[in-house]
Amino acid sequence: DNQESQAMLEAHQWLTKLYHHLLKNSKDGRKAYEYLLERGFTEETIQKYQLGYSPDDKEFVVTFLEKKGFHPQAMVKAGLLSVNDQGNYADRFRGRVMFPLRNHLGKTVAFAGRSLGDQEPKYLNSPETDLFHKGRLLYNFDLARSSIRKEKTVVLFEGFGDVISAAQSGIPYAVGTMGTSLSSTQANLLKKYADQIIVCYDGDRAGIEAAVKAAKLTKSIGCQTFVARVPDGLDPDDFIRRHGGGRFKKEVLDTSDTYISFMMSYLRRDYNLQVEGDRIAYIEKVLQEIATLDRAVEREHYLNELSSEFQLSLETLKEEISQIRSRQG
Ligand code: ATP
Ligand code: MN
Ligand code: MN
Ligand code: MN
Repeated sequence: DNQESQAMLEAHQWLTKLYHHLLKNSKDGRKAYEYLLERGFTEETIQKYQLGYSPDDKEFVVTFLEKKGFHPQAMVKAGLLSVNDQGNYADRFRGRVMFPLRNHLGKTVAFAGRSLGDQEPKYLNSPETDLFHKGRLLYNFDLARSSIRKEKTVVLFEGFGDVISAAQSGIPYAVGTMGTSLSSTQANLLKKYADQIIVCYDGDRAGIEAAVKAAKLTKSIGCQTFVARVPDGLDPDDFIRRHGGGRFKKEVLDTSDTYISFMMSYLRRDYNLQVEGDRIAYIEKVLQEIATLDRAVEREHYLNELSSEFQLSLETLKEEISQIRSRQG
């Protein structure tokens, strides 16, 4: 109910403050603080994003929340505590760097905790609750919204580190999906503020597959979709840390592939274009992608490219496209 949601929300604001305080003022917290500085986050960034530390203690948060007058059972529902069969409550997040996940109003509604070393899982997130739906929240949307609107552009990342690094180095129109695929709710939200969307996921297999999905989805709702490629097996955060935000913008964002160019090189990997049968199958796949484009000039542009690359007449390709489009209705 409403009162319960209000308590859950309040508990999250208290814990945001507590974790941030412990990051700066506890002995183990200082180690986490050093880790964040080591990663290249500035003091100002740590403050702005209210990054924190959850102590490696079973009942630190249990005790804290109890003192504040919250019902432990409600806090289990909020995803902040766990409870075992004996009815003992325990802290959910222990010994982790804490990233508060803020809703569009800037209120913390969940947490992600990153392990400091190599412990698995690397990230532990809050469960889905009445306050937090993974598929609806876009990380950093509250802070990014005004610059997304101003620039008419949004850059979509998969990780927290990527978003924060980008925002810290001059790209404030950055949001994150937190490792999951982009939902249509999220895509439609972005479409309201941006004309142009740059998908900038990791270059590993999972990242590429997720980028294909996000690209198709945003394209299908009428965004101008681009897909960025981060070189040398780095993720966006790594690249920014190594080369800075200026080079990231110039060499990665500004050289993003258009939707079709990205799909062409993605599809190409499955075919050997020296073999005639493969070549035809590939061209067919690309034509299907081109057929989904709304604007005739855009379709013509890519048909021209295909035509010169494979020495096919433009008429033939246009003929094919109209057939595909009439089938698609
Ligand atoms: P870091 O730079 O801190 O090592 P990352 O953000 O580059 O981490 P990735 O492995 O690229 O991490 O994953 C991207 C995103 O996916 C993470 O930011 C996180 O939101 C989510 N994620 C990764 N691993 C897990 C996990 N084990 N459980 C839940 N979410 C995860
Ligand atoms: Mn990844
Ligand atoms: Mn990554
Ligand atoms: Mn990373």
